[in-house]
Amino acid sequence: METRPRSQQRARTKIIATVGPACQKPEQLAGLVHAGADLFRLNMAHGSLAEHAQTLWAIRQTSADLRQPIAVLVDLAGPKIRLGELPGGMIECVAGAEFRFVRGTEARQPDDLATTYEPLIDELKVGDTVMLADGTVSMVVLEKKKDYVRCRVVQPGLVRSRQGLNLPGVHLSAPAMDEIDRKNAIWAAENEIDFVGLSFVRAPRDVRELKNLLRDAGSSARVIAKIEKQEALDHLEGIISEADGIMVARGDLGVEINVAQMPVVQKRIVATCHEHQKPVIIATQMLDSMQHSRRPTRAEVTDVANAILDGGDACMLSGETAIGQFPREAVEMMNQVALAAEELFHDNVPQPPGNFRAEGLHPITSAVVYGAGHIAAEIDARLMVVASHSGATALALSKQRTYVQTVGISDSPQTLRQMCLYWGVIPLGDMPTLSSQQMLDAVTNWGLRDGSLESGDHVVLVAGIGLNGGSHNQVVVHRVP
Ligand code: PEP
Repeated sequence: METRPRSQQRARTKIIATVGPACQKPEQLAGLVHAGADLFRLNMAHGSLAEHAQTLWAIRQTSADLRQPIAVLVDLAGPKIRLGELPGGMIECVAGAEFRFVRGTEARQPDDLATTYEPLIDELKVGDTVMLADGTVSMVVLEKKKDYVRCRVVQPGLVRSRQGLNLPGVHLSAPAMDEIDRKNAIWAAENEIDFVGLSFVRAPRDVRELKNLLRDAGSSARVIAKIEKQEALDHLEGIISEADGIMVARGDLGVEINVAQMPVVQKRIVATCHEHQKPVIIATQMLDSMQHSRRPTRAEVTDVANAILDGGDACMLSGETAIGQFPREAVEMMNQVALAAEELFHDNVPQPPGNFRAEGLHPITSAVVYGAGHIAAEIDARLMVVASHSGATALALSKQRTYVQTVGISDSPQTLRQMCLYWGVIPLGDMPTLSSQQMLDAVTNWGLRDGSLESGDHVVLVAGIGLNGGSHNQVVVHRVP
């Protein structure tokens, strides 16, 4: 039986669970939250808006029942190219066999392949590589004609209807979002979604476009740029600076670049996010074998731990929770691995604000956050508390990676939900935000009930005089009576 307080059984690293048929009922969602899920992802590449609306209702209900902020990430499909329908639903691509990618959505002969991307024929060149079936099948372009390109299979395998297509190194003219993405983004805005992810981002302007669309629709959703193309790596600094958060989308990225580069690229993306003080999510195949097994492989748990030690703020589960046999066990396992890895952060000390290139954070806030982190470490505080209207100060505290957990409180319910992505931050609803004394009393009462505070413990509060003021200018050290 676990004897630690409830808040300390939850990892500081945030866990994102993709919702699908295996977990969309309210009791299943509640089970995942109990196991450690902080954020649910709705993958717009699958399912209808009516189905997503039903899932969203169930998530909101779960959050209200558990009296716990839970964030939602709507993940837009972006310019993903897919195969059209194949005869019999699949074809075997034998090494050396030739196929034609044709214009339009209809195949005319047995070796024709149609796709969802109209300009494909114009944008491929002789010598380009076409990857299919998650990178397991590859073809090289041999010949280009007005209405087709002829390709030869290099790496053989089975491909199925509607599977994704990757074109490593090929510059595509596709817009950042099509009509369906825009419709889904508007739906996200209308439903007060907390995070909107954009797939296949290539440049900072793609992120700007989605941000503008959301702002025009009255949304304060944060935009997560998914890094899954070489072009995104070429513009990494600009994209990170424009986005509110980043996802290392290893599924497509591992096909678009040489997969052997994946671990090094992951470290580079995480380090750059850290410099810019932006949250970063590590995604895909983290506990993949748990789709069909109660236990993960040693390599998978090591991957999760290393993602956290690299500095990842959140780890994401995809098929494991959406369609797997053991969604709750997968979340529990991720939580356990994270708790074990986080032990290595015990002696971390905050880095000076000058080490970061965070835009938009008031210099006084940066300095106060840095000081508060040092004070908390020095006096061995049990908790930090941050009152944050926009969440920016909570994120700055989170990025210090101090082992002392932070309680986040806010006058904005959406800010509280957005704190679900911030490493080490426990968002608490129904807390007063007016005076430091009220906040400390309320958090102390919660901590004593939860078991995470005892008489004599120290709590460090970071606040501003007036939540809407320009900076956080107050640090209070409180001793639990
Ligand atoms: C990925 O490619 O790793 C990813 C998370 O994207 P999606 O699941 O949308 O394909």
